[in-house]
Amino acid sequence: MSREELIAEGRLLPVMEHFYTIQGEGFHQGRAAYFIRLGGCDVGCSWCDVKDSWDASQHPLLWVEDIAKHARQSGAPIAVITGGEPGMYPLGPLSDTLHAAGLRVHLETSGAYPLSGDFDWVCVSPKKFKKPLDESLALADEIKVVVFHHNDFRWAESHYGKGKDGCQYILQPEWSKEPELLPEIIGYVKSEPRWRISLQVHKYMNVP
Ligand code: SF4
Repeated sequence: MSREELIAEGRLLPVMEHFYTIQGEGFHQGRAAYFIRLGGCDVGCSWCDVKDSWDASQHPLLWVEDIAKHARQSGAPIAVITGGEPGMYPLGPLSDTLHAAGLRVHLETSGAYPLSGDFDWVCVSPKKFKKPLDESLALADEIKVVVFHHNDFRWAESHYGKGKDGCQYILQPEWSKEPELLPEIIGYVKSEPRWRISLQVHKYMNVP
């Protein structure tokens, strides 16, 4: 079987980096987790802080079994599959292999692609640059909207109610805009308490 066929089956995946750290964002903020950052993204967020991930060809191809072995050996209870945009790949083999290694499996995605795989938690972070699919939003345990402009509250509200039953709806200031936008986000959540706030606390803790 060729390399391209193995990637198309999700058995071999481009991995920019993988490491044991603390989840810095969202509902599971503060929990120990093994991050698996897949290479490849065509969403094109202007404020993206992992632009090096965009070109999948720049990242080594790893077998899902080898990725899961590293995750298991780290002792992490959770694996977070992120990117890049991991939804560009079939994730069934990776999620199954991580589960077989005893980890819970979380996904972070823009939702711009149909999702495959078995996840214990799905965080969809919708992006204006390539909008999320309703079918991906419907799988979300968490919808986390990055606030970059004052008018992004309207964009956030356009996704309210589209997640699973019990979905958590979260607003997170883009890192460089946090000083400017956080007071406004605090005021918004006080008036619309259906939302909660996430900050990128890994940046305060100085961990990746
Ligand atoms: Fe960057 Fe994520 Fe946007 Fe892709 S979806 S451009 S990785 S922030």
